[in-house]
Amino acid sequence: MTLDIQKQIDHLKATIEDYNYQYYVLDNPSVPDAEYDRLMRELKSLENAHPELITADSPTQKVSGKLDNSFQPIEHLTPMLSLDNVFNIEDFAAYQQRLHNRLKDDAVLAFTCEPKLDGLAISIVYRNGLLEFAATRGDGKVGEDVTHNIRTIASIPLKLRGDYPELLDVRGEVFMPKSAFEKINQDAIEQGVKTFANPRNAAAGSLRQLDPSITAKRNLAVYFYSIGTAEGQALADTHYQRLMQLKSWGLPVCPEVKVVEEAQGCLTYYDDILNRRDQLPYEIDGVVYKVNTIATQQVLGFVAKAPRWAIAHKFPAQEELTRLLAVDFQV
Ligand code: NAD
Repeated sequence: MTLDIQKQIDHLKATIEDYNYQYYVLDNPSVPDAEYDRLMRELKSLENAHPELITADSPTQKVSGKLDNSFQPIEHLTPMLSLDNVFNIEDFAAYQQRLHNRLKDDAVLAFTCEPKLDGLAISIVYRNGLLEFAATRGDGKVGEDVTHNIRTIASIPLKLRGDYPELLDVRGEVFMPKSAFEKINQDAIEQGVKTFANPRNAAAGSLRQLDPSITAKRNLAVYFYSIGTAEGQALADTHYQRLMQLKSWGLPVCPEVKVVEEAQGCLTYYDDILNRRDQLPYEIDGVVYKVNTIATQQVLGFVAKAPRWAIAHKFPAQEELTRLLAVDFQV
């Protein structure tokens, strides 16, 4: 019995690792996200039922993303983590209940809600207000040095403004706005070269270029959503106020960010953003809820590869496996 389950787990791990390689290293996914998420849920549920079979190298336990040795490695000042996901209201209600149970408290919880931008995570370090280096998430501990490319993105300040920290490691999502994505694919069609699969792959492929002049032409944008490290400047007590601090230092923050209360507030936000998804100028694949009070975040802490105080609520899949597999796409 356990041998069979071990085999299933090994098979799932190997398949997921293969998909990770295509997605993170080659920026060229071989299956839609919904299929990847399904396999990941299957693996998690087998591991939950048989915790003795969980190993540290399981994709459920570590941040995925490999390092391409074309780029210099940069060790993150603090790890760059992933997010846990829920895909329906029942699982979200269970998540909320777990939060209250862990806090041993029924007090009203406030959440900052944000769109889940479909790009790639970036860490940018500013020292004395000047952009020093920028790295991709990589394996969460070590990322790829993409400083030269990041410098070409118009909305990323090379120098901070106002009362910024002496040392700031700020995290955000680099993405390709829909208009830039449409243009780049239109140009590709006219030139008879392959088009990009989606804005996420276009953003990742454009940022992970060896020649910054190519990145510069790709019209990438960024929204910042968290602070990894800050020294020499007091930070606000809530996540939302910290985002406003980032904005005051000249770092773009998504205008759709909002504070709500409890599950009902989160779900109203989810419905609103889902209804307006097509009108937004960038691609999103869900929303993220983050416990707003930093002291409460600290009580909740982290699991293996994600904070307990945040969860991504993913939108229903837009793509069908059959349709995607029928299309020959590449970065
Ligand atoms: P994730 O993308 O589900 O969540 C974490 C990431 O969300 C962060 O690293 C950050 O980049 C991003 N993010 C966007 N907006 C954010 C916000 N407002 N606040 C915080 N973070 C925000 O997790 P992951 O580990 O990066 O990737 C897993 C997901 O990637 C899968 O669920 C799947 O959808 C996709 N994937 C697909 C394939 C495939 O073959 N199709 C392979 C690997 C991964």
